[in-house]
Amino acid sequence: MSYQFSCAAAGAVTCGCKVTASTEEELRTVLADHLAKKHKVKAPNETLLAHLVASATRTGSEPAA
Ligand SMILES: [Zn+2]
Repeated sequence: MSYQFSCAAAGAVTCGCKVTASTEEELRTVLADHLAKKHKVKAPNETLLAHLVASATRTGSEPAA
């Protein structure tokens, strides 16, 4: 499974950024970095991160073992 996140879909319509990650943990790390660089959010809190993760689209399937 992978996560696809779009700032526009999460409400930041002026940001065309799209992010993909293979795990929720990776997505949170990438989002925190993006927020700091593009949205001037130095330390996103848990509420914000949880909201953003929830707005991400889960795609694909588990890799074959
Ligand atoms: Zn953005």
